[in-house]
Amino acid sequence: MKYTYIFSILIIQILFSCSPNQENENNESLAHVETTKDQHTRANIEEIRTTHLHLELDINFENKTIYGVARHQMSENNIDHAIFDIKGLEIIKTTVGEKEETATDFTISKEDELLGSALTVKIEPGTQFINIYYQTTENSEALDWLPAELTEGKVHPYLYTQGQAILTRSWIPLQDSPMNRITYSADITVPSELIAVMSADNPTEKNAEGEYHFMMKQKIPSYLIALAVGDLVYTSLGENCGIYSEKELADACAYEFGDLPKMISAAEGLYGEYLWDQYDIVMLPYSFPFGGMENPRLTFANPTILAGDRSSTSVIAHELAHSWSGNLVTNATWDDFWLNEGFTVYFENRIMEEIYGKETADVLATIEYQDLTASIKDIENGDFPEDTRLKLELNERNPDEGMTDIAYVKGAFFLRTLENTVGRKKMDVFLNQYFLDHAFQSITTEVFVEDLKTKLLEPTNIDFNIDEWIYQAGLPENHIKIDSKKLAKMIAIAEKANAGKDIFLNDFKGAKRNDFITQEWLTFFRTLSPEVSIKTMEKLDKQFLFSSESNAIIKSDWFKLSAQTHYRAQNVEMQKYLIKIGRRWLIEGIYQILMDSKETVDHDFARETFELAKDGYHFVSRSTIEEVVK
Ligand SMILES: [Zn+2]
Repeated sequence: MKYTYIFSILIIQILFSCSPNQENENNESLAHVETTKDQHTRANIEEIRTTHLHLELDINFENKTIYGVARHQMSENNIDHAIFDIKGLEIIKTTVGEKEETATDFTISKEDELLGSALTVKIEPGTQFINIYYQTTENSEALDWLPAELTEGKVHPYLYTQGQAILTRSWIPLQDSPMNRITYSADITVPSELIAVMSADNPTEKNAEGEYHFMMKQKIPSYLIALAVGDLVYTSLGENCGIYSEKELADACAYEFGDLPKMISAAEGLYGEYLWDQYDIVMLPYSFPFGGMENPRLTFANPTILAGDRSSTSVIAHELAHSWSGNLVTNATWDDFWLNEGFTVYFENRIMEEIYGKETADVLATIEYQDLTASIKDIENGDFPEDTRLKLELNERNPDEGMTDIAYVKGAFFLRTLENTVGRKKMDVFLNQYFLDHAFQSITTEVFVEDLKTKLLEPTNIDFNIDEWIYQAGLPENHIKIDSKKLAKMIAIAEKANAGKDIFLNDFKGAKRNDFITQEWLTFFRTLSPEVSIKTMEKLDKQFLFSSESNAIIKSDWFKLSAQTHYRAQNVEMQKYLIKIGRRWLIEGIYQILMDSKETVDHDFARETFELAKDGYHFVSRSTIEEVVK
């Protein structure tokens, strides 16, 4: 998510109240969306939709339970029932009416392991207000209740939610589909020593009552409703941006994200005004399953991006970019997930190029390409080889299975290749228009394809293999090739080591860990053969001190290599790392390599470590790793 600056009310009004002409155009381009069915919701959104949601919630850390009511304001309708998604929630009662409430009947369907249950509320045709009284349970998968020991301060507990893809229904009863966009408001009560923040306008200071009011006045999909509660302080980083963190991390955050105001201006320079007023970040505990999550106005971030050298700031460029791709223009269904992520990885790289130059951008894209080719191989050998297509078919599957390098990196390479074909200038004009035309809409891949054909390719008379890129498996031959000299040098050194040559005599003579940036080390580790000797591993460790490395990303790749080469002297450190960190991308590969080992001692080590670590993981990571070690 990225975000910037004041956006005048006037512009928002223009966006919301489009002229009749625009409306017609939008209706036409959205015809496809209206006929599309989101397979991951039970809600009858084609008959009745929530337009505004108001939450009144009491956050109880002692019982690890949220108690409250979700008040839904509904669209015009002529129907006698409204269906909402719920999972792991206890429904206490349902009522209709705004000021005067009348109890009404509800039924709950048998729970589906993936989708949860359908909560059907009986209403009169034309009903405007539906209120659902409920509480969360220990099966509310979006919620991560962290005990004080797992925070930096170690005095107060911490709670955060993770809604994407279909987990919001496990802490709020609602129509949980990215096809429907709503505004929301909330009254949240928390213990008075803590502060609550949401993907909305936020307080910057605690109040003695522990009562906070929130408003999100822009329409968002349900997966972007988010809440964090902890002992947090706010550090402003510029006119309209800043960061919430525990006070222990405030200085490190202020340094690491010092370029945030520049990033916001760079992003606006590329694709137009930031439409969400304020852009803040909240630093979560290490258990957060992702590097970052683009909750609008308030990116949720994992402390593993505090590398100390600003080498992981591309995560913030990425989340900021989501303020356009993903949050402003949203995938209508999870099969269209690449519309969110492919555009964002492309956009993130453009921001990085703008601020740090082309060499840095190329280094990042080269690393992504390494990840992509490895992922394609894995997917082709897995149960769903067709998952290397950009447009997915995730019917009856968990949308999380679509969160691979295909959506992210193949998607970005598609756009980079397209840019290389039509020229950057035309590409940028097209993308600016795309974000304007579809602002605050949820669209399908097909709507994008239609736009691409009629607004870019046909007017310029350019042929492009769109179908192959989007609907066929694998990576098309015409993909753009990106080289980085910096990384080529590391590849050469690793290849020498693979050939049995002594790299410590010349190449690494007198070298220190900080002579190379994170991405150079990743490239080096990834190029080294798993057959490399334990002796070489020992020498690397002695010279560069990887065992005590503080950069979590370098460390993850170092441990993968240690697992591959059976360098078991690392096991103690590796176990500590896997217990502390819950970011799925950093830990899944280590567990996978241990489980792929031919030696049972590695399987035992992986399982024993998971047992020790699992209570500190969010549901998202826990369920993934559980599959790996099964
Ligand atoms: Zn993303």
